[in-house]
Parts: sequence; C-alpha cells; structure tokens
Amino acid sequence: MGLIHMAANNQEPLSFARLVAREERRPTYPQSLVELAYEQLLSMLVTMKIAPGAHIGIEALARQLDISQTPIREALTLLEAQKLAYKIPNVGFRAAELLTRQEVHDLFDLRLLIEPAAAAFAAQKADDAALQRLAGLAGDMSDAQTGNELAYAQFAEGDARLHHLVAAASGNRFIAETVEGLHAHLHIFRFLFRTNATTKAVQEHEAIIKALLARDPAAAERAMREHLKASRARMNVVLEELERTTETGPAPEAGGRTRRGRTRRR
Ligand SMILES: [Zn+2]
Repeated sequence: MGLIHMAANNQEPLSFARLVAREERRPTYPQSLVELAYEQLLSMLVTMKIAPGAHIGIEALARQLDISQTPIREALTLLEAQKLAYKIPNVGFRAAELLTRQEVHDLFDLRLLIEPAAAAFAAQKADDAALQRLAGLAGDMSDAQTGNELAYAQFAEGDARLHHLVAAASGNRFIAETVEGLHAHLHIFRFLFRTNATTKAVQEHEAIIKALLARDPAAAERAMREHLKASRARMNVVLEELERTTETGPAPEAGGRTRRGRTRRR
C-alpha cells in the first residue's frame, strides 16, 4: 500500500510520503519512521480524525502509533511546512483550522487565473520525461482510490504532486513556486472526505494529461479550467452542507471544531 511506480525510469518504488519528504528536503531521520509517522498523521488530519484546531498530543500519539516522539515531531514539522499543523511555543502543535468559505473562494479564483495558463505552457514546453511522470502519477492515482483513510490521504498528496508537476512543466519558475506555495490540496481534501471527489478528479486529470500528451495548449488550458471549476463546485456543495449543520445543528464542541469564518490561521 502506498507504493507508486515511477513510469519514466527504473527507480525503486516510492511512497507519496517519501516523495513529499524528498521535495521538502528533510530526509534527516531513519526515513521509514518519519514516513510512517507522517503518513499516519497526514491521514488523521486530512480525514479530520484530528479535528481542525485541535491540540496534537505528541506523547499520546507516540503511544498510539508505537513510534518514539522524535520522528513524530519531525513529521509534524513537515506538516507545518504544508500548513496543516502549526506550533505554539511552549504548548505544542495544533491542527490547522479549515479554510473559511471566503478563503476557499479566493483560492479557487487564484488557481483559475494561474493553472489553466500553466497547463497551456506545459503543453508546449514540457519535456517527454515530465509528461511521462505525469501520466504515471495519474495512473497511480486511479489505482489508489480505494476507500481507506490512508489511501485517501495518499490520493490528496498525489493530486498535489500532479498539479505541482504541471506547474513545473510550464517552464516558468514563478508559476511553479506560486502554485506550490498555495498548499491548496491538503486543505481542500479535508473538506471532501466521504465524497466521490476522487473518482471525478481521476477522470478530469485524465483529460488534462491527454491534452498535454497531445501537446495541445488550448485543450490543456480548457481541461485544467474545467477540472478546477468542477472541484470548486464539489467544494461548494460541502461548504453549504457544513454551513447548514453549523447553523441549525448542535453547538461546536469545545476546543474542537470552530464555526467557520471566525477563526483564521495563517
Ligand atoms: Zn486535481
């Protein structure tokens, strides 16, 4: 589980977590323990088993996962870099709050400005190796959509990788850095757990990859725009549902989920 095979070359199979860790250039610990802690924590955060805003108890986690505290801290630092957790001095780590509705709206506005153009550039400029990596990743994601929580977190990471690869393939470093710096995916996927988002996204990704492989800028731009619009529509359904339940439902639990729109985290 969690293994993907790079299509383009004969590297050893890599887990999504290892890819992310490698991207963040922090391979300091016995890789496997940090990876294990990272994968577990990521799936708890993305599936909201650890509620937004909740304190992340390192000692309890160490016992629960049977991993010592140091790799857990290391994993939390990785998650902090992705803005999924944050550190409060002398207190410890907390899970990031959910994005507000306005933030989600603004995030998609920005992505719609940049990513379709990035896809069009990529159709013209990507080298064959980059396109093969993309195709390989899309294939792995369609294999990885089976329901458990770890698979879901891996899918979210795969989606982040795919969008980053397209942005990087645009050949414009500033576009690539902007898209990566948004850390959009893990946040968005926290909303979409228990929806059919993964199945839909796989089909939409295939359309993007197909256009890139055909080196058709107009089609790539269109496919990316449609994917982002569809993704935004899926988000809106979930946000409306959340809004209904927080308006009419029971009060949010103390220290747990906060009413969206109140609390912000930078
Ligand atoms: Zn996507």
